[in-house]
Amino acid sequence: MSYEYKQREVSLREHKEFRIGDGRISGYISIFLGALSLLAVLAYLYPSYLTTAELREAYDANVLQQVLKYGMWISLFFGGVTFMINRRKRQGAVGIMLTLIAFAMGGYLVPVGAVEANSLSLGVDWLILAFLGSIIIFTTLEKLFPKYKDQVILREEWGLDFFYFCFNHLLISIILLVGNYLVSQFQWALDSSVQNFVQSMPLIVQVFILIMIADFVLYWEHRTFHEVPKLWPFHAVHHSVETMDWLAGSRSHFMQTFIERSLVMLSLYLIGADKAALDLYVTFAALQAIVIHTNLDIPWGPLKYLVVTPQYHHWHHSCEKPAIDTNYCAHTPLFDRLFNTYHMPTEHWPAEYGTTKRLPRTFIGQLLYPFGIGKDKEY
Ligand SMILES: [Zn+2]
Ligand SMILES: [Zn+2]
Repeated sequence: MSYEYKQREVSLREHKEFRIGDGRISGYISIFLGALSLLAVLAYLYPSYLTTAELREAYDANVLQQVLKYGMWISLFFGGVTFMINRRKRQGAVGIMLTLIAFAMGGYLVPVGAVEANSLSLGVDWLILAFLGSIIIFTTLEKLFPKYKDQVILREEWGLDFFYFCFNHLLISIILLVGNYLVSQFQWALDSSVQNFVQSMPLIVQVFILIMIADFVLYWEHRTFHEVPKLWPFHAVHHSVETMDWLAGSRSHFMQTFIERSLVMLSLYLIGADKAALDLYVTFAALQAIVIHTNLDIPWGPLKYLVVTPQYHHWHHSCEKPAIDTNYCAHTPLFDRLFNTYHMPTEHWPAEYGTTKRLPRTFIGQLLYPFGIGKDKEY
């Protein structure tokens, strides 16, 4: 029997919409830049506790200090604009206050010094850079090429997903620490002949191998989380999101995040590719993980057969019958095709997202849910 696909209905939540002139855009810009500035100043004051050793190697703290300088002035400017257009004064005041506190703590004049090595720290730098980068790139793309044009930025539960976003980024060094520990336990499994063979190949081939190996590992890890009843509640947290956008993919139970990242780190480590290939893979994987959740409708051409696209992963998040337990792949659709879990009606997008049984709608509720707490309640 064939399934009857329906159109998704998105109604415009007008009171949540950003409109030029009502002070909301300038208010939010001021608050977000004010909060980020304050965090950045704290990171400059206490770098060994609040910045990530791995990430520090990749950026220039002096250059970012200039970015901070502009961020602080722009926050003040937009805070002032909200006052001038005489709307949302409270938002303007909060933004200005956060920035003034950042100024009082030294602002962009805090000297950049040598940083003591500290294996455990909060990834405040990672959070700021990832948030600024993502919001600029993906919100712009989603506004230019939306799948659902009436979907607002501040959609239902964006606050919850924003919290997940912050949580996951702040804990980056713990995730790396767990992953590195696991990797160190498997030194014995390293084979230098495999390593030499892989490293003798051109960079692009190495990246391709990493993508395929990671996708194979992720396919089975993902499928296991779906098919083992005791594991499903952990992964159900990721599926509990009912509106898709770039932020939605952040929702994930920390247990699953740890298991997933560690398994991928370990398998890629055992391949022994060049560091440049690993860096390219990690960048590609991180971007794709965001893209596939976006509210983005762009023509992928023949690429749609080769890579996992938003439409493909949106089907994975659908609670409609034919889509349940399909499209496990993270990078290419190959293993779904191979193992018969492929679902891609190219003409259609899902009408509904989420789990068939609703989960708690709070961070703590979702954190405890897999341990059986609050399982019998209706949400
Ligand atoms: Zn899943
Ligand atoms: Zn997802």
